[in-house]
Amino acid sequence: MDIAQERRLVTEVPGPKSRELLERRIVSVPRGVFYTAPVFVEAASGAVLRDVDGNSLIDLGSGLAVLNVGNAHPAVVEAVRDQAGRLTHTCMHVTMNEPYLALAERLNSLVPGEGARRTMLVNSGAEAVENAVKIARYFTKRSAVVVFDHAFHGRTQLAMTMTAKVMPYRYGFPSTAPDIHRLPFAYPYRCPMGGTSPEACAESCAAYAIEEMDKHIGPETIACVVVEPIMGEGGFVVPAPGFLPRIADYCARKNILFVADEVQTGIGRTGRWFGIEHEGIVPDLVVMAKSLAGGLPLGAVTGREDVMESVHPGGLGGTFGGNPVACAAALAVLEIVEREGLLERARRIGDIARSRLQEMAARFPIVGDVRGRGAMVAIELVEDPDTKAPAKEAAGRLIEECYRQGVIVLKAGTHDNVVRLLPPLSIDEGLIREGLDVLEKALATVEERAPVSP
Ligand SMILES: *Cc1c(COP(=O)(O)O)cnc(C)c1O
Repeated sequence: MDIAQERRLVTEVPGPKSRELLERRIVSVPRGVFYTAPVFVEAASGAVLRDVDGNSLIDLGSGLAVLNVGNAHPAVVEAVRDQAGRLTHTCMHVTMNEPYLALAERLNSLVPGEGARRTMLVNSGAEAVENAVKIARYFTKRSAVVVFDHAFHGRTQLAMTMTAKVMPYRYGFPSTAPDIHRLPFAYPYRCPMGGTSPEACAESCAAYAIEEMDKHIGPETIACVVVEPIMGEGGFVVPAPGFLPRIADYCARKNILFVADEVQTGIGRTGRWFGIEHEGIVPDLVVMAKSLAGGLPLGAVTGREDVMESVHPGGLGGTFGGNPVACAAALAVLEIVEREGLLERARRIGDIARSRLQEMAARFPIVGDVRGRGAMVAIELVEDPDTKAPAKEAAGRLIEECYRQGVIVLKAGTHDNVVRLLPPLSIDEGLIREGLDVLEKALATVEERAPVSP
């Protein structure tokens, strides 16, 4: 379906039809399954969502980082139609199908590093994380897993335990997965070690993390370190330069596997295929999902041949993993990223957004930090630039103000005070500029009502 790439409101947002559906939802779906905007979408294309009331909204969320190639890209739709018409499922453990192989071959050559790789396919990011840890534990015959503050790795038992934030992810759900260890992350705007420059932050956090692994956890017990190249749900925290390379270097020396969780940063989002490429690190295992299949559920673990092959036959898998329709969509996605030059576009869109957000930061004291890489950009809102007290309510109001004006943006951050942009990489420059205009007006409204610091 072709939808004009424009913002056009014909009712208030949410409109009457969305409100009606919301009432049905409230009595049919538990509130634990949260939502950002009380809007029901009927169709979408490119960077525009058409809601059930006929409003056209600018999509700066990509369905939570899933639609890097844009909503309903015609080549993805075509690949899905074609594959679904021939074969929707075999289960790779019964009879096999070629799309799984073609995608595995493609991902093996796409991830950083020179050596041979293998890929297994699953249905989600959490499932991919679970499998990466299973494989790392099997290969190393060690059990400890090291993760970081502000990490998000999913909502299944193990992935949830690896996730940092208690509310809403772990609160009330006892974590039964053993031997998960959390270390500080080099977050330059709020350095946990008190570093006052990015260099000092990287240095002190890396030294502390390495000392912890060396003296308290014991490197001979650590199977893997799992880290997002940029913290996603944790607030688009770009690690201070040098932090991750020092951790990766320690891992290599101690035969600890380095696992890059690229579920949010992968498939071109940061202007490279994978976020970890900015750090010059070659991970042992790469975990993918979200934008991999352009909206179809698919996850992947791609890793070193010796590591991936260590597990006995039957030790890995799942009924739906590597569904041929999802694989066909993923093959189309990877081709679109190349053909449309979306890595380049991610950098261009990101530059436009970052420079506008920096102007806003100069005008509005509530914007404490602007950060990100490529088309993964965010602002962190604070009540006072000196104390950096998180402005959580203001972030909520900003998001609401934006969707009321027809722009979808997302919240993030351990303190719930980060507003992040994840536009489709194919978005028109005019449309991203308009989205930023709306964000700026919303910021002015929110700042007016922000509490005045004493
Ligand atoms: C979203 C996300 C996950 C979990 O993916 P699901 O498909 O929701 O299970 C894992 N890691 C990161 C970095 C994510 O952003």
